[in-house]
Amino acid sequence: MVYRVPKRILLTGGAGYIGSHTYVALRQAGHDVVILDNFSNARRSVVARLEQITGAPVPVVEGDIRDNALLDRVFTDHRIDAVVHFAALKAVGESMAKPLDYFDVNIGGLTTLLRAMDRAGCRRIVFSSSATVYGVPDETPTPETAPFRAMNPYGQTKILGEEMLAWLAQSNPDWAIGVLRYFNPAGAHRSGLIGEDPADIPNNLMPFVAKVALGELDRIAVFGDDYDTPDGTGVRDYIHVEDLARGHVLSLGRLFETGQGHCVNLGTGRGYSVLEVIAAYKRACNRDLPHHITDRRPGDVPIYVASADKAAEVLGFRTEKGLDEMCASSWNWVSNIGETA
Ligand code: NAD
Ligand code: UDP
Repeated sequence: MVYRVPKRILLTGGAGYIGSHTYVALRQAGHDVVILDNFSNARRSVVARLEQITGAPVPVVEGDIRDNALLDRVFTDHRIDAVVHFAALKAVGESMAKPLDYFDVNIGGLTTLLRAMDRAGCRRIVFSSSATVYGVPDETPTPETAPFRAMNPYGQTKILGEEMLAWLAQSNPDWAIGVLRYFNPAGAHRSGLIGEDPADIPNNLMPFVAKVALGELDRIAVFGDDYDTPDGTGVRDYIHVEDLARGHVLSLGRLFETGQGHCVNLGTGRGYSVLEVIAAYKRACNRDLPHHITDRRPGDVPIYVASADKAAEVLGFRTEKGLDEMCASSWNWVSNIGETA
């Protein structure tokens, strides 16, 4: 069920990892797309790469989602039909050290954006949420009905964001809001031109493994092998970023088609352990990937696996790519271009 009439979509944070892939997917679905990004966590070179992939100029507004006047200009100049709101700070550890930054960007920024949308009469939004809203879930695979549990300020901002949006939808039926709870995005675009590109030493497993494969880091620390999981290491539901991007196209289509909101997990419904990820990456890069077992990472959740049923039912969303394709596309990206981006 894809909405066929082209729309004009604003992607906040559209130069980032998931935003850039969604830009491509939305363009391929025939929509006009404008990116708003302050480039606090993206390289400007991504814009030329998006132009290379799509074969057309990429409209970019450089600026901050907390800038009221700028947002008003964007909505007036571009006559936006809907927003996909990616722009946020997303590092769990950093959020523990600097919670105010997270409240400012993730909550303040969301409020400023929603106010500007309301002023402009644009009341369709897809919100990037996260499996982290479930904290340590009681149920695996985890359904959307599982309760919220904040584990850190980052997770708290996603919960608050979702709650704000739910109240907003209740206040005025003109709002149609899609909440997408991503599990663990991984991999890169098939072109090898865009992908995840962390500026510092990565916190997340897949980009860390990629840097070890490149020889930029010595070895992978596996954070604990004494969890109650098949091989004792943490299990996650990794989802290919191209599948994830397609989920946004479907979510927007559903909002336009029905005028009704939805809240769904985006995952595969299948979990892989840390050791399975390392083994898959090794197959992809054909290099040795030294690793050693260390203590558990404080605050880590043993298992996150999505119940993928609701996304299939509501959006017709099913993932197409598995772990091997995530690792192969990641390796293609980091080994060809990632280093020089
Ligand atoms: P990212 O950091 O690559 O992308 C975010 C983009 O937003 C960046 O390009 C950054 O420059 C921009 N940005 C940040 N603050 C801004 C501001 N104040 N004004 C304008 N632009 C700003 O992150 P991502 O991995 O693409 O994540 C996108 C969204 O998905 C985020 O909301 C994140 O919380 C959520 N999410 C990500 C993951 C993941 O593992 N990557 C998992 C679940 C949810
Ligand atoms: N992990 C690991 N070493 C690393 C990074 C992560 O063993 O250098 C483990 C982590 O404990 C978890 C899994 O890999 O079990 C995924 O971690 P990531 O940070 O990528 O995702 P999140 O924990 O946020 O779901």
